[in-house]
Amino acid sequence: MTFDRIRSFLTEHAPATPCLVVDTDTVAARVRELAERFPGARLCYAVKANPEPAVVRTVLAAGAGFDVAGRAEIELCLAEGARPESLSYGNTIKKPADIAFAHARGVREFVTDAEDDLHRLARFAPGAQVCVRLLVDGPASVTPFGRKFGCAPQLAVDLLRRAAELGLDPAGVSFHVGSQQLDLSAWDNGIAAAAKVFAELASHGVRLRRLNLGGGFGVPYTGPAPSLAEYAEAVHRSLRSHFPAGLPELVLEPGRAAVAEAGLIRTEVVLVSRRSAGDEHRWVYLDIGRYNGLAETENEAIAYQFEPVTHRTGEDGPVIIAGPTCDGDDVLYQHTPYRLPLELRTGDRLDILNAGAYTASYSSVSFNGIEPLRTYCLADGKPLDE
Ligand SMILES: *Cc1c(COP(=O)(O)O)cnc(C)c1O
Repeated sequence: MTFDRIRSFLTEHAPATPCLVVDTDTVAARVRELAERFPGARLCYAVKANPEPAVVRTVLAAGAGFDVAGRAEIELCLAEGARPESLSYGNTIKKPADIAFAHARGVREFVTDAEDDLHRLARFAPGAQVCVRLLVDGPASVTPFGRKFGCAPQLAVDLLRRAAELGLDPAGVSFHVGSQQLDLSAWDNGIAAAAKVFAELASHGVRLRRLNLGGGFGVPYTGPAPSLAEYAEAVHRSLRSHFPAGLPELVLEPGRAAVAEAGLIRTEVVLVSRRSAGDEHRWVYLDIGRYNGLAETENEAIAYQFEPVTHRTGEDGPVIIAGPTCDGDDVLYQHTPYRLPLELRTGDRLDILNAGAYTASYSSVSFNGIEPLRTYCLADGKPLDE
């Protein structure tokens, strides 16, 4: 359905490639499904996954709030009509001026993981609600955060107590299991660690109320991903076991799960070549690469699914897929096995499926003079004018 609508648009309008087309009806359906699977939880769409204004509007209309990373994302959401109380400033890395800006615009919910940042929150966002992000061990995701964010549970306890002393509102804890997390058990570590922090704070007379479960739900690329029903079931099972006396207020920050499957990228083959005459592998160079939309192919982390649009009969053979720029790292897949038709030619079109998340937003401004990935948004199958 989604891709039928997108392909009709592409056939009818034939926009220049590469381009991303997002079906906002699918975004709305995904947000509604998330809300149904997690009744009572507050949804904050992670804007960085796809900050197209039409996507933000769709998410807003579907009843969700927003996880924002900085000033520009706050301005975007407010400009589209979001209430400032529906925004969570989830980035732990913020300049004092960004905190002050957010506070001045009415944002009241912040995530932190460092004492220094906590002091700045007390100063520039006095009285704000604070969640402390936990660094949780667990199964690696496809695109892991490593140790960049979060703090040890004991430090989280100290920070939340300190927050209260500083006149902030110690609301709760957050964690993020890593994006495209395909292991259903991953949330259990975070929920268990969070429950311990809740208990420890209670023994100090501080009652936490909020648990922010972050994002991380995966979508199918060349391989399958659990369904939202399976994710919800695993998360609820952990919640019941670690919070037997009753659930805290839940926040979810889906990014990928809200928008990836709503988008398709159409790309064109620029060149097909072989390194030597007898080389079994052909190199296929596309008009999209690492720097104009496919940043998540770094380390071949995300293995996108390609579908030839131009019909070619006959066999296929192994290919290495690369981007169009003069950069040695702009090779998309040389270890992940891909096969494309032997008849593939310059000018043939390919579709990249489930490409609505972390593509256009990662696109560089003009590396090699290539413009950022263009996005077209559809509603009811028709293009929306921005
Ligand atoms: C990126 C991000 C998300 C979204 O993660 P997904 O894996 O895309 O769902 C949620 N919360 C925070 C704090 C993030 O940085």
